[in-house]
Amino acid sequence: MNKKKIAVLLIIFIAIIACAVSYIKFTSIYANNQVMPLKGVKVVIDSGHGGLDPGKTGINGEDEAVLNLKIAFKLKQTLEIMGAEVVMTREVNDGLMEGGQAWHKDDDMRIRHGIIQNSGADIMISIHLDSHMSDRSVSGTGVLYYGKSEYSKELAQAITERLKVLDTDGKMREIKQRDNLLILKNNPMPSVIVECGFISNAAEEKLLQKDSHQSKIALEIARGIVDFIYENAYFKNKLSVL
Ligand SMILES: [Zn+2]
Repeated sequence: MNKKKIAVLLIIFIAIIACAVSYIKFTSIYANNQVMPLKGVKVVIDSGHGGLDPGKTGINGEDEAVLNLKIAFKLKQTLEIMGAEVVMTREVNDGLMEGGQAWHKDDDMRIRHGIIQNSGADIMISIHLDSHMSDRSVSGTGVLYYGKSEYSKELAQAITERLKVLDTDGKMREIKQRDNLLILKNNPMPSVIVECGFISNAAEEKLLQKDSHQSKIALEIARGIVDFIYENAYFKNKLSVL
């Protein structure tokens, strides 16, 4: 074998080793991300309403604010298992107010918006339930986003895709642009409101009261967040594993 042949074989051998090493490295990163796919990501969760503001009331008398908080906590738990850091705007079923002041809806919303804006989070999810009192047959989830934020629209789309599995009526869900809602306005991070179902629909209200259904909603929202992060290089770069 001449020197030229040996050199070519050596180069091929080195190339094979390099490929194998990078493949092993890639698969181990993938494996790590499978365990904690949101490590390095911070999410702020807003549980809608609370205290003197019960939100919508269900046909069986359940308050939206109570169910929102239960779903919000399940989402927190799911995201933390996935490695994310989570900030909550409220952790008990009270409204937000400043020391000594009486509760007022406008102040509550301003304080809530302040927590979101100062959270340093990469993503904001606000949990709510829907209601349609004049047609109690209406059911299903819905995601609202702020129109001036393209990332918010993409996040809304990603979560909607995942939530589809929970909707039993077979109807296609459209994401909804809402530019007049303070909680979504001018946030430094992609922000959406997830309406987790219709509390005015008796069957859906019963479902929403179930721990297992609340967990399913939380899991699908979390999966939507993972899809969104991994589809956008800007957010993907925030992951600590990569
Ligand atoms: Zn609400």
